[in-house]
Amino acid sequence: MIRTRFAPSPTGFLHIGGARTALFSWAYARHHGGEFILRIEDTDVARSTSEAVQAILDGMRWLGLDYDEGPIYQMRRMDRYKAVIREMLESGSAYYCYTAPEELDRVREAQRAQGLKPRYDRTWRPETGKTLPKPPDGVRPVVRFRNPLDGVVAWDDLVKGSIAIDNAELDDLVIARADLVPTYNFCVAVDDWDMNITHVIRGDDHVNNTPRQINILKALGAPIPRYGHLSMILGDDGQKLSKRHGAVSVMQYDENGYLPEAVLNYLARLGWSHGDDEIFSMEQFREWFDLDHITPSAAQFNTEKLDWLNAHYLREADNMRLAALLAPRLAALGVTLLQTPSLEAVVALYKERVSRLDQLADEVKVFYAPLEPDPDALARHLTPDALPALKDFAARILEVDPWDAPSINALVKDCLKAHKLKMPKLAMPLRVLLTGREHTPSIDGVIALFSRETVLERLKPAGVG
Ligand code: GLU
Repeated sequence: MIRTRFAPSPTGFLHIGGARTALFSWAYARHHGGEFILRIEDTDVARSTSEAVQAILDGMRWLGLDYDEGPIYQMRRMDRYKAVIREMLESGSAYYCYTAPEELDRVREAQRAQGLKPRYDRTWRPETGKTLPKPPDGVRPVVRFRNPLDGVVAWDDLVKGSIAIDNAELDDLVIARADLVPTYNFCVAVDDWDMNITHVIRGDDHVNNTPRQINILKALGAPIPRYGHLSMILGDDGQKLSKRHGAVSVMQYDENGYLPEAVLNYLARLGWSHGDDEIFSMEQFREWFDLDHITPSAAQFNTEKLDWLNAHYLREADNMRLAALLAPRLAALGVTLLQTPSLEAVVALYKERVSRLDQLADEVKVFYAPLEPDPDALARHLTPDALPALKDFAARILEVDPWDAPSINALVKDCLKAHKLKMPKLAMPLRVLLTGREHTPSIDGVIALFSRETVLERLKPAGVG
């Protein structure tokens, strides 16, 4: 049974990189009919917040990344970590170290001065035949992991290929601090073991932790999971993705008017590919996802492409759903919806023209807010030769039956013909008068959204209607 996990530290929002890691871990488990676990790594008490936990849960929910177990909070597993530390002390794979922090600093300084890599000098590391110093009074020891002194730690990384680190490079890691709080790498190793994680898929900022975690797992006699480290995501400008690039939090994308399926589809292609496929559903992604097609090189964020995908998913989205997503946005803009036109009908006409929900809200709001057409635009389009045709149109509006786009179109054409005008002559002033905009979908469709009365009402500034 394949088991993967997403293990964020709740020190900030769920960012785009984290969301992609979650998505790939999720997809790997789902593809194989395995299980996906959410673990909250909250042992850094000073930096972890409940708001950040909530932001992670919200982000996962918004993206629809469901988990089979969790959220499991590390802070609630302290007893278990302490029990494992005791066992390791008993078995000799960990030991107490009484070197005071100031002493450690002094040793490191001296090593640096000699051009050596600073490291713990293993004073308190037990060895056969070695006599340890007497523990000083009043010093609370830390617990260190007895890392193997030689040999290599190697793993076949699922993304990066084979990696081998000399044990000589690794210090005897502190696994519990003097206040007995277990440290980061140790908790991760114990958790991955206890949670039967088979595949650890995470960001490559953790590559350096992997040999330490493998050594701890080995010392515990635990199975070693497979590891895959995803390369980082760069911003549009090729720099490391950061707040500078605007929206880095997943929920910010929601706020900025992106649909979750667009963000998911976009993230799926950030470092993974399935031939030339750009647009695919999550069902397809689950079916196709494998680790063989993840690129080890850095992925670059491309807002234009995300917008393109979002425009696609907006076009595909059900009108009722879009109307429901739009209603609170319109309310926030101070717009009160009316019975007519129906928001769904307006959305149906306009969704093809935008790439984000905020743009859609901006287009749609003119149908509900009182309108004061821009005098310049009016002057531009309400030309003397257009006016008689417009009057004619207004006068005959009650004849239109049924009140729909084809019948309205017939009347518009009639008026144009009677006055020997071309379409824009009438369509442009109608656009400006009815919506305040010079760009709208086909004018008959726009007119059909309003009632006859509202159309006449909105034509009044032209002196017709
Ligand atoms: N808690 C770590 C982070 O948020 C992830 C640890 C892991 O996946 O092993 O970066």
